[in-house]
Amino acid sequence: MNGDPLRSSVRSLFVLLCGFEILPKTVSTRGRGGRFILSEPVCAYLLDTESGWVLLDAGLNPDNGRDPVRRQEKFWRLGMTAPVIRDEHLLDKQLAGLGVRFTDIGHVILSHLHYDHSGCLRHFSHARISIQRREYEHAFGADPGMAYFQDEYDDPRLRWDLRDGDWEALPGLRLIDTRGHTQGHQSAIVELPQSGTIVLPFDAGDLQENFDDEILPGESCDDVAALRAIQRIKALEATSNATRLLFHDPAAIQTMRLSPDCYR
Ligand SMILES: [Zn+2]
Repeated sequence: MNGDPLRSSVRSLFVLLCGFEILPKTVSTRGRGGRFILSEPVCAYLLDTESGWVLLDAGLNPDNGRDPVRRQEKFWRLGMTAPVIRDEHLLDKQLAGLGVRFTDIGHVILSHLHYDHSGCLRHFSHARISIQRREYEHAFGADPGMAYFQDEYDDPRLRWDLRDGDWEALPGLRLIDTRGHTQGHQSAIVELPQSGTIVLPFDAGDLQENFDDEILPGESCDDVAALRAIQRIKALEATSNATRLLFHDPAAIQTMRLSPDCYR
């Protein structure tokens, strides 16, 4: 660990756009916009750090969009639409574009274990996979809920690193407890040399309006905690003049620097 808290070991952040989910808006905004269907991006973030490549979230399993059996079983049967994942969204292709292989990434940190955050975990049996203990225990329990695809993460080859509450992964990369959307949701704060503080809420708030109007996510395990998570992120941003990168916002994604461009 570096002794100087002002010194970040993170050099740059790449936003990897991994596909789109077709959802009723109420999945993101509780009780608001039930007639609307949104096409929401799914992201993962790759960090170039002094101690190697770190991946934040593990994208979508392309088979969930492409394999007819899986589409039927995981989505259509439940009245849901399968995600849209085109070639340019594939995680391996985007990494290859940066000259990075799965095996070059030694550390994967997950916000939570919903299928749109854990879809490519099977490629990371060589890596350390960090997650909140509460999330792990819920996700591996009986019947965690339909957004958990246990066949994608209940893999004996994976090496889990379980965390409790706020923690620092590296100088310049902190994870904060934003429990509420799920039992053990965490969000990330990244310090960059030029861009300054970047806040990655993940599913604590999908859309800009979740923060502007303090609207709860569609699904939560604890509404009081979910609101507190939104307020915590806003308070943190206010004190650090941070930039917020939203994970699921269809408008915000269009103005982000997408890989191979990056935030430095
Ligand atoms: Zn989620």
